[in-house]
Amino acid sequence: MTNHRDEALTKHDLQHTLADAFSCIGPGVHTGLSAVMTVMPADADSGYVFFRKDVHPEMGLVPARWHTVTDTQLSTTVSNRFGVRVSTVEHLLAALHASGIDNARIVLDGPEVPIMDGSAKCFVDFIEQVGKKAQQRLRQAIVITQPIKIELNGASAMLEPHPSPLFEMHIDFPNTLIGQQHYTTQLGEHTFKQELAPARTFGLTKHIEALKASGLAKGGSLKNALVVDGEKLLNQEGLRFSDEFARHKTLDSIGDLALAGATIIGKFTGYKSGHHLNNLLLRKLMHQNHSSVYTTLRQAQHRWQAIAHYPEAI
Ligand SMILES: [Zn+2]
Repeated sequence: MTNHRDEALTKHDLQHTLADAFSCIGPGVHTGLSAVMTVMPADADSGYVFFRKDVHPEMGLVPARWHTVTDTQLSTTVSNRFGVRVSTVEHLLAALHASGIDNARIVLDGPEVPIMDGSAKCFVDFIEQVGKKAQQRLRQAIVITQPIKIELNGASAMLEPHPSPLFEMHIDFPNTLIGQQHYTTQLGEHTFKQELAPARTFGLTKHIEALKASGLAKGGSLKNALVVDGEKLLNQEGLRFSDEFARHKTLDSIGDLALAGATIIGKFTGYKSGHHLNNLLLRKLMHQNHSSVYTTLRQAQHRWQAIAHYPEAI
């Protein structure tokens, strides 16, 4: 029998950052404010850290972690102790996490990540263009050992033991084109790029009108969001996938769970869940020690069966 400690490290076991920087420019969907964003390589163990260069340099660092989330209305917003915010982080973080980038410094001159075409496609394309660089530190993993669930107003978000990161999403928008949809995917770089990254954010006309009247969704348009009016889609180019809505909600969940700061080894199931529930789930996970084990991805993969059957042995 081979001892995993004797086996050579693979690239998959190691943390990665970008091999080079890339930049995007564009408005944020909610603030409507335009920003130039540069995503740069970062040191091992640093995670995803935003830096707002339009504020005083000593106040600009905003780490993107589950505990720095301060607003989940419409999108996920992270803030620092000075109240400096970065909104709509979820599509970029989903692209970085699913592409195997553990550490990145994201420099912005505005308060919101550019929405681009409403999906994560352009971020994934940029990451592929600049490439990845392995770092000499092991990837971290959170292995789910017991089910953990958050329920609120008929919606729920749950994590359960599973040997690999699996995402399942159920949505229900009665009397609309969307209707009931569900989508399941194994988190993986190729699958994410092909099946999830192009899925765009969406809204219902009745909600969008109310949001705009309250000064929200200022940057939203048919160029960066699918807009559904009852049984009709207002975007003339049509859908990229028949279940594009469920795919986008899956993408959102991957981005929200990337705020854990490690790969979650387990099955996520969202039922009508969104940014708020996803963050509550992470907070419960982090505070409820008996539901998970924090380890390296290498150890997690080798010891999964032992963890699943004998969680107390870890
Ligand atoms: Zn989204």
